[in-house]
Amino acid sequence: MVYLNGNFIKKNQASVSVMDRGFLFGDGVYEVIPVYQGKLFRLTAHLKRLQNSLDAIKIPSPHSNNEWLEILNQLLGYSQPLNQSLYLQITRGSDTQRRHSFEALTPTVYIESSPLIPKTKQALKQGFSAITQTDIRWSRCDIKATSLLANVLYSQNAKENQVEEIILHRNDIVTEGATSNVFIIKNKTLFTHPSGAHILSGITRDLALESALACKLPINESVFSVDELLNADEVWISSSTREIMPITQIDNQLINHGKIGTYWECVYNHYQQLKND
Ligand code: PLP
Repeated sequence: MVYLNGNFIKKNQASVSVMDRGFLFGDGVYEVIPVYQGKLFRLTAHLKRLQNSLDAIKIPSPHSNNEWLEILNQLLGYSQPLNQSLYLQITRGSDTQRRHSFEALTPTVYIESSPLIPKTKQALKQGFSAITQTDIRWSRCDIKATSLLANVLYSQNAKENQVEEIILHRNDIVTEGATSNVFIIKNKTLFTHPSGAHILSGITRDLALESALACKLPINESVFSVDELLNADEVWISSSTREIMPITQIDNQLINHGKIGTYWECVYNHYQQLKND
């Protein structure tokens, strides 16, 4: 079952107009909300970011927080797995003709759920590889926009190169991953790019920082270079569906001799506790 504009219907029966601006322009925003043991994880933070994205592109919010909660819980009621990932998309809606500028339209709201199977600690402890590439995206990466062409190309590139993630850099400064935030540890301090227009400030990023503090790891939200990335003691990436993953090889260079760092393990354990709160 999926949710489309007020109705719970079978996915193969869900359709939208070809005049939908989401289809024509990628004119919309989205959220991905994890569900653990049937419970929406960090819903308030996700809804706040959704509201920020909607405000940034001037789409009026179609629902209050209470209405979202009701819709999401109703959708969860239709599906079996206890752990799921909810994909929620709002486009500006359907117009009568194709034009770049817009007038007030009724937003299209689509929500689907898919099983969420996080990697086990054992699997994560193998470590993952990444490659670096120039960040070619626009300068409003803080908006969780459905227009994801650059990210699509990066993900295809990751697949073709058999790596977990593409780590992006702008003028030699590491911004984030194509679908994740990036952290390094150097001199027993955690560094990550500050929030702002050049990254999507992840909900998992905030939780990773919270977990780092619990592990007595000092945090420095400041930029670092590609060279500092490659010479870090530990590198992690984070996202709602991947949680916090250790990266042990970048551009064919081993990080920490290819070994998982001790801070990662502490932060991973703390994050797992947060999921049970
Ligand atoms: N940065 C980008 C570009 C992303 O696409 C994502 C997630 O999809 C993230 C960061 C991580 O965000 P979150 O932790 O809220 O999933």
